Amino acid sequence: MTPVYEGAIQDLIDEFDELPGVGPKSAQRMAFHILAADAARVERFVEALRAVKARVRFCETCGNISESEQCAVCRDPRRDQRVICVVEEPKDLVAIERTREYRGLYHVLGGAIDPLSGVGPDDLRIRELFARVGGDVEEVILATNPTVVGEATAAYLTRMLRTMDVPVSRLASG
Ligand code: ZN
Repeated sequence: MTPVYEGAIQDLIDEFDELPGVGPKSAQRMAFHILAADAARVERFVEALRAVKARVRFCETCGNISESEQCAVCRDPRRDQRVICVVEEPKDLVAIERTREYRGLYHVLGGAIDPLSGVGPDDLRIRELFARVGGDVEEVILATNPTVVGEATAAYLTRMLRTMDVPVSRLASG
């Protein structure tokens, strides 16, 4: 976009403009909203941005978003340790949790295999998944997205997990 304002306000517009789903007009509206807001409100916003970078990380076991080594799901002893549901992103895990029908564990891949975008198996948390199966895990449910890359990822994982003798099922989601 063509810079119209100068200095700090334009810098802020540019920052909002970088966010996914935000166009130049929305970026401008957001920047002026911040400009008009009281200082305490802006301070809370700045603190929320800082805190998310300082405190939030990924669960060492499943890759879910967490503020400690293990996420809330992995820490919960009531979860069924024998079932792992594989999803692409933490938001997919949240969507399944909202249904309150699944009581097993998760594995977050961090995306899908997408050769056209240069994303191969080694770019995702697939090795970590294979390390978790075996042992107590009796079933892996593949809940990758019903997209071309999601289906291709599910097909790849099915092939690999079958060689490891792990029962695999595909969760139809939409
Ligand atoms: Zn976890």
